[in-house]
Amino acid sequence: MELETVIGLEVHLQLSTETKAFCSCSTEFGAPANTHTCPVCLGLPGSLPVLNKRVFEYAIRAAISVNCLISKVVKFDRKNYFYPDLPKNYQISQFDMPLAAKGYLEILDERKKINIRRIHLEEDAGKLMHDEKKGISLVDFNRSGIPLLEIVSEPDINSPQEAYEYLTALKSLLQYLEISNCNMEEGSLRCDANVSVRVPGDALGSKVELKNMNSFKALKEALQFEATRQNRLFNNNEKILQETRLWDEDSKNTVLMRTKEEAQDYRYFPEPDLVPFVIDEALIERIRADLPELPGEKKERFIKEYNLPSYDASVLTKDKAVSLFFEECCKLYENPKTISNWIMSELLMHLNEQGITISGMKLKAKSLIELFKLIDSNIISGKIAKEVFHEMVITNKEPIEIVNSKGLRQIVDEDSIKDVIKKVLKENPNVVADYANGKKNSFIYLVGQVMKETKGKANPQKTNELLNGELERFLTPHP
Ligand SMILES: [Zn+2]
Repeated sequence: MELETVIGLEVHLQLSTETKAFCSCSTEFGAPANTHTCPVCLGLPGSLPVLNKRVFEYAIRAAISVNCLISKVVKFDRKNYFYPDLPKNYQISQFDMPLAAKGYLEILDERKKINIRRIHLEEDAGKLMHDEKKGISLVDFNRSGIPLLEIVSEPDINSPQEAYEYLTALKSLLQYLEISNCNMEEGSLRCDANVSVRVPGDALGSKVELKNMNSFKALKEALQFEATRQNRLFNNNEKILQETRLWDEDSKNTVLMRTKEEAQDYRYFPEPDLVPFVIDEALIERIRADLPELPGEKKERFIKEYNLPSYDASVLTKDKAVSLFFEECCKLYENPKTISNWIMSELLMHLNEQGITISGMKLKAKSLIELFKLIDSNIISGKIAKEVFHEMVITNKEPIEIVNSKGLRQIVDEDSIKDVIKKVLKENPNVVADYANGKKNSFIYLVGQVMKETKGKANPQKTNELLNGELERFLTPHP
């Protein structure tokens, strides 16, 4: 039987403040172990936490942009559990009164709305490092107390692809807000999933919590695996147990971590060291007014202002840095569609291949525009331009430098092209005969040969014209 997959996502976002959530220790990544610590984030007796104002403002920014209702009062709770990376034996979190709730995020070009159940603030734990050879474990508390925002969706997601779309849209939005670098590989964006299956229309089935998905690709694979596993159990009349499973990237498998604990296992109670406080409405309004242009708004503007198709505008605005690069190019060159085409194909492909972001790329907007101008002035063909582009992004050289040093200038001189055409026709009498007999594809083959002979440098338009002229001799005139 075909079952419906039901997925809810819990996203943990590391907020990119300079200092931790409840103390003034630095949040800088990569510092020597245990150098960014103080009595508060080490949980020493008698130390008192103080909420970082910036953390609170960042959280409000996120809540507004996913259309949440914001709580009137901010209250923190202790989530109690023991683990060696948690010096206080509790985590400061928010339990019964999350900062915000009942929002939504639109995905699939606004065709589907994913409801957001709640958004709350909490702190991160330290980091354990296990040295299996020496048989020891070490702990680094630099991460302890780093501010996290947890964004919990309703189980409105019905396929691994939709989960991927939701996470992509959320990441894009959060990057626009400049509250996190959203790097899943570095752990600043983490995602757990609740997965269950049901006969469409029935109540929700037992949910399995999936953890340890460290990339967007892993998320999709893990969800697919888990949905298939649950379908198989269901169809074999086996019970699906409520449990937490880990995605194992190497074996492409989910493995049992623990049976699910309930909220009461954590013995939540109000954090007595942080007094609840009423949120100032004026502050919310100020944050709302200061929000930057968000991806949806920018997409609409790109369509109007640059006359781009909706698809282009979508692709270009997904990543804020890409949208900025596009606009920088538009200031220097008057054809936005050409810029869009190049960014969507060559540039994004290059970034993908190299596994880098646009900010990590060497190419400058000005150099890309220089390349377009070489095409426009017939110095190189569009095809050669792609070759030059690939050299530019790796070497950081100016396009004209590459064209000159590699001798890539287009051949526009008619006599030179004609000479090559004559040679090609002489070498391919069979193809010429085919052409004379009406096989039109032969023409394309001959153009290809001319291009091969000139290493792609013959002007394509001239080549077509001249080849047509030369071939006329071989056609029998119609009566
Ligand atoms: Zn500290």
